[in-house]
Amino acid sequence: MNKPMQWMAVGLMASAVMAMMTVSTCAGAAEKISVLILTGQNNHGWHTGTPIFEKVLEETGLFEVDVAQSPGPKADMSSYQPKFADYDVVVSDYNGDDWPEATQKAFEAYVKGGGGFVVVHAADNSFANWAEYNKMIGLGGWGGRNEKSGPYVYWEDGKIVRNTEKGRGGHHGAQTPYKVTNRVTDHPITKGLPIEWMHGRDELYALMRGPAENMTVLATAFSDKATNGSGREEPVLMTIDYGSGRVFHTVLGHVGANDTSDKELPAVQCEGFIVTLQRGTEWAATGKVTQKVPANFPTADKIVLRKPFNLPSLKK
Ligand code: ZN
Repeated sequence: MNKPMQWMAVGLMASAVMAMMTVSTCAGAAEKISVLILTGQNNHGWHTGTPIFEKVLEETGLFEVDVAQSPGPKADMSSYQPKFADYDVVVSDYNGDDWPEATQKAFEAYVKGGGGFVVVHAADNSFANWAEYNKMIGLGGWGGRNEKSGPYVYWEDGKIVRNTEKGRGGHHGAQTPYKVTNRVTDHPITKGLPIEWMHGRDELYALMRGPAENMTVLATAFSDKATNGSGREEPVLMTIDYGSGRVFHTVLGHVGANDTSDKELPAVQCEGFIVTLQRGTEWAATGKVTQKVPANFPTADKIVLRKPFNLPSLKK
């Protein structure tokens, strides 16, 4: 009598535990925001930057990150067809050859249909001739961009200016630490951040041009002529509504082509860069930000850098 009862009890307990595990695993997976990072070509160190972006997103516990690495420059791109629709948000660290038309159309449909998109640094140099991409990113630089790409957009006398004068799109001066000033303080991404905060040494993109439709400039930084800048207060964090999709665009985050993450990379070790990327990615995916602002967020006079990340690079 005793033995069969024990067996039954153990069996019941085991199935109860298994049922609980199954339920909690499913619930845990369902709660995470799925992220796809696009990478594989960039005039920057994508092989170093992408693992850093993956790490800082995953450390929040909110995101589950996959990476879609493209073929290299001048290679056949026809196989590059990431399954955008499987993800809540796509983060681009890509600046390279044009995608196949099917991939472009799939991406347009994905964002237009409500997908999230995060543009990091030189991802806004990409695809100067792809009209819908430029609507998504709001502003871009280089790649032959000029007055036909859209106005220059900058902050002057307390408001956003759209300047249609002729001229090239895309410039940066010498790398330098710089102060970021939040111009919209009640957006989920910027809410609770110091209004002014120091960013670690980085390129400051300037003279960007683009359609700039449905775009909100969350933060700007002064591009100083003393360091070969534009003399303008340039947009550095932006959001764009594209169809039903939400786009977060950060021009911060330079990683040099030959940089490795055992070295100091102040642009991406900056807690301000990291936290705004984490918050912007959550917002692009869900329209909300649940993350608390960390106590060590940089201030108006203090840069806060992490130690070198020391992550393995992606293979080219
Ligand atoms: Zn750069």
